Amino acid sequence: MSSGDMAKPLLGHQNTESDPNTPAAGRTIGVLGSGDFARSLAIRLVCSGFKVVVGSRNPKRKASLFPSAAEVTFQAEAVKKTDVIFVAVFREHYSTLCDLADVLAGKILVDVSNNTEINHHKESNAEYLASLFPACTVVKGFNVVSAWTLQSGARDGNKQVLICSNNQEAKRTVAEIAQVMGFTPVDMGCMSSACEIENIPLRLLPTWKIPIFLSLGLFLCFFTYNLIRQVIHPYIREQKNKLYKIPVEVVNTTLPCVSYVMLSLVYLPGVLAACLQLYYGTKYRRFPDWLDQWLQHRKQIGLLSFFCAALHAVYSLCLPMRRSHRYQLIEMAAKQAMEKKTNVWVEAEVWRMEIYISVGIIALGLLSLLAITSLPSIANSLNWREFSFIQSTLGFTALVVSTLHTLTYGWSRAFDENQYKFYLPPTYTLTLLVPCTVILAKVVFNLPCIRQRLVRIRRGWEKGRYVKFVLPSATGEYSSGETSSNV
Ligand code: NAP
Repeated sequence: MSSGDMAKPLLGHQNTESDPNTPAAGRTIGVLGSGDFARSLAIRLVCSGFKVVVGSRNPKRKASLFPSAAEVTFQAEAVKKTDVIFVAVFREHYSTLCDLADVLAGKILVDVSNNTEINHHKESNAEYLASLFPACTVVKGFNVVSAWTLQSGARDGNKQVLICSNNQEAKRTVAEIAQVMGFTPVDMGCMSSACEIENIPLRLLPTWKIPIFLSLGLFLCFFTYNLIRQVIHPYIREQKNKLYKIPVEVVNTTLPCVSYVMLSLVYLPGVLAACLQLYYGTKYRRFPDWLDQWLQHRKQIGLLSFFCAALHAVYSLCLPMRRSHRYQLIEMAAKQAMEKKTNVWVEAEVWRMEIYISVGIIALGLLSLLAITSLPSIANSLNWREFSFIQSTLGFTALVVSTLHTLTYGWSRAFDENQYKFYLPPTYTLTLLVPCTVILAKVVFNLPCIRQRLVRIRRGWEKGRYVKFVLPSATGEYSSGETSSNV
């Protein structure tokens, strides 16, 4: 980025989210280092109303890279002018700062560093910095925001800044600075959390691993099943080469199966949780770990279901574009002409197809709505009732509509013995298994006698627990006693 660009940061001059009355605003902040992070940090600090002094080994050469409002000087000079110093230097170079130990004594050092590998060193970078400068107070923070996020504004990037330190006062000071800069400081406790904070930017989709493996596993199973039915069976039984079906047709019959089953897996853990609560008669008993994990991954499972459904829609739209489809149409037309068939209209088939497509579009629409509302920016703008209505009620409606889509697709094929290839039933019959169980369970849970019990449990009622009760007497006075709450 040119020096001209640096003078004109992406942010507006004053951060609208910062509060000028905060004690942190207006103070001088030091930054050691003049690299990418130091520059972005200095720009953001200047835009947030702080005075910034940058400490560099070569200030003359680096000064032009910083906004004119920031002072760029030698490291020792910069450190003398402030009590809070961001150390924007790699861990390997911390020891080169040891000459500054005397001037740094008593000051707050903010360790912003990251590693290249998870748990790379025995001790965290922040703990290492603290060991090099025992007279300083070290605070870990800002490592989870990138140089880009610092420059592009809080609204565009990750707004959370995780902070930890053994010194409460120093932590509060850094949290205030983060707040003035437009970030949301998150207190992660004492310095022992530094290692965890340093690992966060290195993790690759930690919450997505299980859902991705689950969807890949399902895809593989259904793909193999469809391959056997659509390609291998005609080859073995009729010596017909149907390999051309693999890239589009087999994939397109696999995707809706994965999407549909994944959608039902979003609601199945809720059903299992309700069963456990009913069985134990309490909501205070912990669910098994696997169920806890499953409940926590529902959003990702739902989004992958939407992804597969969207791909299925695109594949389906492209089906008529294929050469094989055109040849088949021509073949069929020629055959009908030779047989002198003029009316090929089958009313029931026409209706089935119309309903099947329409219901499919509605299901995709509902899934899109669920996906959009799971975005943090949208979810945060909804209150709890709106969120649970969309995710729970509309989500379940999507499952029911998807079931209708599947049933209208399958129609009477389950009862046609020609559809059983190598005795394997049509794929859609298999996909119906879990979703129909979920729908049935939901219907059972909505029976008044079960629903009432579930609602009571979720409000804190426990089976076999004696509770104090207060009853109004006929005279309007209150009398108290004890009873078993499950009576
Ligand atoms: P960089 O561009 O390589 O800058 C590092 C700076 O360290 C240099 O500009 C240099 O400034 C200074 N330095 C001090 N002593 C040094 C020495 N002995 N040898 C070499 N350089 C020395 O790195 P960066 O991307 O700004 O990252 C700086 C720190 O921020 C790292 O710990 C990194 O993990 C962390 N971080 C970076 C990002 C990001 O997006 N870049 C995000 C989160 C955290 P002078 O020459 O002026 O002294």
